[in-house]
Amino acid sequence: MKLTVLGFYGGYPTDNIGTSSYLLESDNFHLLLDAGSYSLLTMEKYVDPLELDAVLLSHYHHDHIADLGVLQFTRLLKRDEHGNRAHMLPIYCHNEDAAHFEQMTLENVSEGIPYNEEPKLTIGPFDIEHLKTLHPVPCYAFRITERKTGKVLVYTADSGFIEDFIPFCESADYLLADSNFYKGMENHTVHMTAKECGQIASKAGVSNLILSHLPQTGDWNNLIQQAQEECPRTTVQLAEKDKHYNI
Ligand SMILES: [Zn+2]
Ligand SMILES: [Zn+2]
Repeated sequence: MKLTVLGFYGGYPTDNIGTSSYLLESDNFHLLLDAGSYSLLTMEKYVDPLELDAVLLSHYHHDHIADLGVLQFTRLLKRDEHGNRAHMLPIYCHNEDAAHFEQMTLENVSEGIPYNEEPKLTIGPFDIEHLKTLHPVPCYAFRITERKTGKVLVYTADSGFIEDFIPFCESADYLLADSNFYKGMENHTVHMTAKECGQIASKAGVSNLILSHLPQTGDWNNLIQQAQEECPRTTVQLAEKDKHYNI
């Protein structure tokens, strides 16, 4: 599967880079993983929004859903070269926030499909398990397995450190982790530090760690160093806008 970073900031966009959003592709299936600000414009470089197959949302904070409304409007208003509208877009999301969940469904455009009531979910070529994270609002991490290769990507979404991440990330090929804080802010109830991300990668035997949901301040080289100290056998890198990762 191919992962493309569309935006990686936590909280708010800056410097022409948006907030959390990733495109995951396999066998010409296009899955949008969170839809932060600026993600629609960035995604357009890789796939026509009419050809997007599904959306998977971790939670309803603005930095993860800012472009969802305009994505729905694109598919409501835009037609393809033959004058046809896009198929109904499935938006997989949790239903623990009724007001937001309702907005995922727009007549003839999109349908909100809850994933939180079943332990497993299949979206196109992907098998997906979820884990509730530590965050001020209901939020879910995903363990995404590409069926044909068995390759695994874990996305922590937004979370403070929880022990449950260690079995959830077991032997993952890639861990895309919330690394919003520098060392010294451990045991926070909203986000993790790079150090905690490194500890998870080490204990779970993760091959590659991508630090994302990055802060707008500080020197990111310190994030890499603080993570790498904890997991010397894992390849650690920062999320980069428009970078592709072949998993
Ligand atoms: Zn966030
Ligand atoms: Zn959040």
